[in-house]
Amino acid sequence: MTAALNNLVARLRPLRLPRVCVAVTGADPAEMLDKADALVRDNTFLEFRLDYLPRPVLALPKIKQFTEYHPHVVLIATCRRAGNGGKFQGSIASQLDILWRAAAAGCQLLDLELQSAAHTKLEALNRLRSAASLILSYHDFHATKNLEETLGRMVVFPADFYKVVTTANTLYDNVEMMKFIERNSDRYSLIGLCMGEQGIISRVLGLRAGSIFTFAAVSEDEKTAPGQITARELQSTYRVEHVDAPTRVYGVVGNPVAHSLSPAVMNAALRRETVNAVYLLLHAKTLKDLLACVRDIPIHGLSVTMPYKEKIIEYLDNTDTHTTKIGACNTVVRAQDGKLYGFNTDTAGVVRPLQQRLELENAKVLVLGAGGAARAAVFGLKERGAEVSILNRTPGPAQKLARSARARTIKRSDLPKQFFDVIVNATPVGMGNTRESPLNQNEIRARYVFDMIYDPVETRLLKLAKAAGAQVIPGLEMFIHQAARQFEIWTGKPAPLAEMFSVVTKALAEREAIRQAAENKRH
Ligand code: NAP
Repeated sequence: MTAALNNLVARLRPLRLPRVCVAVTGADPAEMLDKADALVRDNTFLEFRLDYLPRPVLALPKIKQFTEYHPHVVLIATCRRAGNGGKFQGSIASQLDILWRAAAAGCQLLDLELQSAAHTKLEALNRLRSAASLILSYHDFHATKNLEETLGRMVVFPADFYKVVTTANTLYDNVEMMKFIERNSDRYSLIGLCMGEQGIISRVLGLRAGSIFTFAAVSEDEKTAPGQITARELQSTYRVEHVDAPTRVYGVVGNPVAHSLSPAVMNAALRRETVNAVYLLLHAKTLKDLLACVRDIPIHGLSVTMPYKEKIIEYLDNTDTHTTKIGACNTVVRAQDGKLYGFNTDTAGVVRPLQQRLELENAKVLVLGAGGAARAAVFGLKERGAEVSILNRTPGPAQKLARSARARTIKRSDLPKQFFDVIVNATPVGMGNTRESPLNQNEIRARYVFDMIYDPVETRLLKLAKAAGAQVIPGLEMFIHQAARQFEIWTGKPAPLAEMFSVVTKALAEREAIRQAAENKRH
C-alpha cells in the first residue's frame, strides 16, 4: 500500500478502532513477529514496541510481510526514546526515520513523544503525518498532574490523536484522568490512562470517559507499563468493548486486593444477567481516597474486604440493624440520592449453604474465631435459632461476642467430649497451605464441618473432618453465596449461582496449578 493510500485509510479510523491495543515486544524481530502472529486471531489492534529491539530497522521487512498477510490488523509503531521512558538509544532523526519506514511497511499509526516533536521541524512532522496517523504522546512516570497544561503544550503540534499517560499515586488520580478526558474528548481524539497499580481502573474507566482506546499486555510477564493488565482480562473479564457512559461501576475495595477472585466472579454474573455494569479491583490505601471516588466516579456498589470491613461503617449514611450488631460491613450500596448504605452478606454466605443441608433451629454449632467473619456467622445462626458455642484463641473477644449475641463460649479441652451438628472455621488457620488446621482430628466430632477458607479448596481441616467421618462444606460456598447476595442487593436480580461457581472453581484450579508448578520448580 502506498503511503498516501495508507494515510487515507488511517484517517477514516478513529471511530472504528478496536478499544484494546496489545503492546508487543520481543528480544529480536523474529520473536516480536511470532508473538504478533499468535495474537492476531483474538486481537486486531497491535502496537509494535520497536524500541525494545536492539536494531529496530531490522524488523521493518518482517512487519511489511506481516501487514500483507494480515491486512485487517491495525498497527501502531512506537520507537520511544530512552530519555522519554522508552528504550531507543538513537537520535530523534533516526527515530523519525524508523517511524517513517514503519508507515511504509504498513503501520497505520505512529506514536511520537511530545519531547521529540518539540525538537522536530513542522514540515518533518507533517511528512510523518502524511504517511500515517500520528499519535502524539506524553508520559509522566511519577504523578497525575497538570493535565490541561500538558494537553495545551501538545495541541500546538498537528496530530490525529493525543495520548496522555500519567502515574496514579491514589485512586482519585483516576478520577482526575477521567474528568480530563471527559472535558476534552469532544475537541480532540484522546487516549488517556494512568499507569501503576493504583491506576488499573483507569484502563477500563478511561474508555467509559471517552478515551478512544487503551493498552494491554500480551501476558502477565510481558507488561510494557506498570499496572498494565492483559488483553484477555480486559476483554473477557471486564468486557471493555461494551463499556460506555451508562455502564455502572462496582468494585471490591481492600488493601491488598490484587488477588481477589471477586472481579472474575462478579463480572461473569453481570455478563450472564446482561447488566450494563463493570466490577473493578479498587486498591485503596485510605478510606478517604476511596470514598472520594465513590462520590465522583460514581461507584454504585462496593464489596468491602480487609482491612476496611469495620472502619467503613462510620463513613456510611446508614446500615441495617443486623450489620450494626455485627459491627462489620462487606457490602455498600450507593442510593440514587448519593447516600451510602451498608449491609453484611457474610451472614448469607454462612447461613445459605447450611440451610441447604440441615434445619438450623436448635442445631448445635461451634464457631471457631471471634473476628468479623465469626461475628457474621454467630449473629446469623442465632437469628435462625441455632445453639452457638464460640472458641477463640484469645478468650476476651469470644466472651464479648458470646455476651452480645447471647451465645456461649467453650474451652478447647472440652471439645473431644462434645458433638456438634456443625463446626464453622472463621479463623485464617490453613489459608494458602494444606498443613495447618485449627483443630486436631480427635477434636472434630460433628456432622458437618464448614471451613470459611476457600484457598486451598480442600484445607487440612476439611481433610481431617472427612477422616473423622464428617461431611464437609468448602469456603467456596460461602464466597459464592455472600457474593450472590451482594449481586441481588445491587441489581435486584437473582444471582446466576452455577455460572459463579464455575468461574471461581476454574480460577482456583488455575491458581493451584501455578502454585504447584512453582513448588515443583523449587524442588
Ligand atoms: P479477623 O477479623 O482478623 O479475625 C480472625 C480470627 O481468627 C480472630 O478471632 C483471631 O483470633 C483468629 N485467629 C487468627 N490467627 C489465628 C491463629 N493463628 N490461631 C488461632 N486463631 C487465629 O478475620 P475475619 O475477617 O473474621 O476472617 C476470618 C477468616 O474467614 C479468614 O480466613 C477469611 O479469609 C475468611 N473469610 C472467608 C469468607 C468467604 O467468603 N469464604 C468471607 C469472610 C471471611 P484472636 O482474637 O486470638 O486474634
